Amino acid sequence: MRLILVGPPGAGKGTQATAITKRYGIPHISTGDMLRSAVKAGTELGKKADAYMQRGDLVPDDLVIAMVIERLQQPDCVNGFLLDGFPRTRAQAASLDAALEANDLALDAVVLINVPDDLIVERIVGRRMDPVTGDIYHISFNPPPAAIASRVVQRKDDTEEAVRTRLEKYVSETAPIVPFYQDKDILKRVDGVGSPAEVAERIAAALAM
Ligand code: AMP
Repeated sequence: MRLILVGPPGAGKGTQATAITKRYGIPHISTGDMLRSAVKAGTELGKKADAYMQRGDLVPDDLVIAMVIERLQQPDCVNGFLLDGFPRTRAQAASLDAALEANDLALDAVVLINVPDDLIVERIVGRRMDPVTGDIYHISFNPPPAAIASRVVQRKDDTEEAVRTRLEKYVSETAPIVPFYQDKDILKRVDGVGSPAEVAERIAAALAM
């Protein structure tokens, strides 16, 4: 299965990606996670990406595209992958398309998770991440277990201002990739309002069609 997960920030992509990759036994490739690791490790890429990410801006295409193409060449991608947070621009979608085509590969589906704006803000502001496992929680909807509650952290770009910028970027830069995949007839639209289990069921049903 070669899949892409698209949706606004706070749509539940990270949570759903965990469920999907478990079900299909494919690697979860999150460009946000990869970039956060690079920032933490202080690599050249991380140094370049840090300021963009803190503002909620997109990291330049050339940096992200090179990072993803290299990742897709790793042996664990041979039976498929789930891309989460990539492509996020038309240029990224075109580069991915060219790279897959050059290897005679095609995408199976692009899952678009739709969530209304007011719910996005509520979800993001309460979002916390376990830095040890990468698991995602919400202070009211899905509180972390007591044993790890003291170590969960809020992402630096989960501030209201950065979230507003990220939403604007989603509308101006990322939403335009949707028709690109619709034209290829591989787009699956899924309602992202509901519990993680409900949304996971909708995704499984959409992928089985
Ligand atoms: P995410 O965890 O997917 O919300 O990504 C967090 C941040 O990482 C984004 O706000 C961007 O600054 C950066 N980022 C992640 N993926 C991409 C991408 N495909 N293109 C450009 N920037 C990205």
